Amino acid sequence: MIYIPSENRYETMPYRRCGISGLKLPAVSLGLWHNFGDDTPHQTKRDILQTAFDHGITHFDLANNYGPQPGAAETAFGEILKTDFAGYRDELIISSKAGYRMWDGPYGEWGSRKNLMASCDQSLKRMGIDYVDIFYSHRFDPDTPLEETMGALDSIVRQGKALYVGISSYNSECTREAARILKDLGTPCLIHQPSYNMLNRWVEHDGLTDTLDDLGIGSIAFTPLAQGMLTHKYLGGIPKGSRATQGKSLAPDMVSDRAIANLNKLNEIAQSRGQTLAQMAIAWVLRGGRITTALIGASKPSQVVDCVGAVQNLDFTAEELDLIDTYADE
Ligand code: NDP
Repeated sequence: MIYIPSENRYETMPYRRCGISGLKLPAVSLGLWHNFGDDTPHQTKRDILQTAFDHGITHFDLANNYGPQPGAAETAFGEILKTDFAGYRDELIISSKAGYRMWDGPYGEWGSRKNLMASCDQSLKRMGIDYVDIFYSHRFDPDTPLEETMGALDSIVRQGKALYVGISSYNSECTREAARILKDLGTPCLIHQPSYNMLNRWVEHDGLTDTLDDLGIGSIAFTPLAQGMLTHKYLGGIPKGSRATQGKSLAPDMVSDRAIANLNKLNEIAQSRGQTLAQMAIAWVLRGGRITTALIGASKPSQVVDCVGAVQNLDFTAEELDLIDTYADE
């Protein structure tokens, strides 16, 4: 079936400026970490991406190692770009990253120039594109001079292989240093990608949110749904087929009886706001405008539709925020 995007795709999604840059990102973005590997039917991947684009999601986030097998998500995304999005490249913001283990030997991970430059080339080849919109250093490397890692990002932009650069999971101190080096090189740091949700607030404790405001860097919060915990999915325990049953990144013991009791309380707050729990969790991440975009994952199109509904209500009363804090402790 030929895919024709919805004509209404830009009508409901807010687009928020990424830091002090000229780039706007959708309030909700889609990541391809899970559900785009060899273990998921190709048609499901197409359905998820088409639904996302139809609902105004213009930003798709990848990394070299997303799979399984590592690289499979980029390969699948590249195929779908060709079949479904060929005429829409300029409506898309595509990102990739290097830093986690991707190939054997000493150059297949971390932050060396060797790793980043080779990995970027591999990602472009897998996706069949000439450039990514954003290329990230996926994690801080304590053994490589930051000048080398940031220098590689700068070179990738100068070679036309990326339009913007970002860093992921760097703490506040390393972020300041990375931003200074990039600024001196003439390639500003566009964006930071940290984990952030009601159950994981390290960016607040670390001062990273203040640092990003101070430096004019945008932010994209990954796992805003705590890998699915902050949805209706686990309210009655762990259901079949959920991420917690798949031996992936969400350990079943995270979904403890205490966690389930708290999730049910959070669900009541969401209902009182006229939202699903997933919608409230995304709205909470986006509240006040300090986070540019919430980076969700989805195993089916209906989840995408539910999640984008979050943008209908991004405001919280002080009482609601206090009540959320009572049940969403870390
Ligand atoms: P989320 O916290 O959004 O969790 C996604 C999962 O939640 C889905 O797979 C699904 O679980 C469930 N879910 C989503 N929406 C709904 C809904 N409406 N109702 C019920 N369940 C729902 O994010 P992810 O953990 O998937 O991470 C998102 C992205 O962040 C990644 O794809 C990646 O791009 C990025 N990321 C970046 C990292 C980094 O180091 N920079 C690390 C990790 C992620 P189920 O599969 O059980 O149906």
